[in-house]
Amino acid sequence: MEVSVENSEIRLRSIADGLCSAYPLVWLKNNCQCPECASNTSGARKLVIRDLKFHSTPVDYRVSSNNEGDELYVKWDDGHESTYGLQWLSVRKFNGGQQHHLEHQRRVKWTAETFSSILRSFKYDDIIKRDDTLLTWLDSLATYGIAIIKDCGLAENRVKELAERVGFLKRTHYGETFRVEVNTDATNLAYRSSYLQLHTDLPYYEFAPGVILLHCIVQPENAGGESETVDGFYVCELMKDKYPTQYKALSTIPVMWTDRGHDNGYNFHCVHHSPIIREDQQGMIKRIKFSEHQRDSKFPVTLNNVHIWYNAVEKFVKIAYDNQVMSSFKMKPGDILTFDNHRLLHGRKGYEGSRLLIGGYLDWDIVNSRIRVLKSQLSDQISTTS
Ligand SMILES: [Zn+2]
Repeated sequence: MEVSVENSEIRLRSIADGLCSAYPLVWLKNNCQCPECASNTSGARKLVIRDLKFHSTPVDYRVSSNNEGDELYVKWDDGHESTYGLQWLSVRKFNGGQQHHLEHQRRVKWTAETFSSILRSFKYDDIIKRDDTLLTWLDSLATYGIAIIKDCGLAENRVKELAERVGFLKRTHYGETFRVEVNTDATNLAYRSSYLQLHTDLPYYEFAPGVILLHCIVQPENAGGESETVDGFYVCELMKDKYPTQYKALSTIPVMWTDRGHDNGYNFHCVHHSPIIREDQQGMIKRIKFSEHQRDSKFPVTLNNVHIWYNAVEKFVKIAYDNQVMSSFKMKPGDILTFDNHRLLHGRKGYEGSRLLIGGYLDWDIVNSRIRVLKSQLSDQISTTS
């Protein structure tokens, strides 16, 4: 490894393959790993940026080896000494956000034709007892946006038990868990037996729940109550490809989402402004909000944007309904269907007779955290047993 200082950066050049990586001096100084600057348990930075010497320069630097691997040693002009493992540096390479793109590529988009091949099925007991199965389920949820859990029984606390394997439920105005059944007293239209349009849940929350867990307790034996769904990210991708102008309109023109009612002992009136499609800073689709019942007739945009928006949403809805998975898929009592509420649109056919689902929500922050912890624990186990 060759080391040099150029343009306020330390450059490392591998002699083996000639590959270069550069680390700005200010970043290195700010991320010193010595016990004075960083916590040796959590790795959290102790050095506050107010006290950072922004223009430090190295008076000595070299790459050396010890039994913990190769490391970069730097002595700064204020006398402070830092060492950085080359492995530690390598996972922090400044490569223009490639890591971010890799995380997005993990999401595999699907169509009505490929749905049956991507829908992974798990057994409830395996998820409760085995960490590797728990991880595989959560990974499937992150990759495909949907997975089904079988043999859950009919006890009404299953959704809560499952959520507690991951972390904890996200509570909403509809309760910690909620019952989807015919309830003529309720204000929410999901609590009727009629057809339910393709939608995402709770678009009127700024932080809409990320994952939906639906436990089927009773399902009509005759036709009716079938689930309908579509991969909203696939819909967006088609839309971006075929109708880029309309896609742009749906990702920029804000809609007023609202829900007003009473449930679970609360009177509520939620309002949130957001376009149907949200992108992140890199132009990747981040999440979808869509629900006809909760889109307010108040539409605080310019007249011209009203026309542009309706033209765009017509295309969006047509693509969504043309590509939905229909009828092929009806939950059975004892199933828990789990899916990404920021990605999938879901609905159900109307029905006659009784039907009961128990629902609950999880946040992606909690799911992704559990995935990281499990990956690290399971890889530690593999390395200690091998
Ligand atoms: Zn330090």
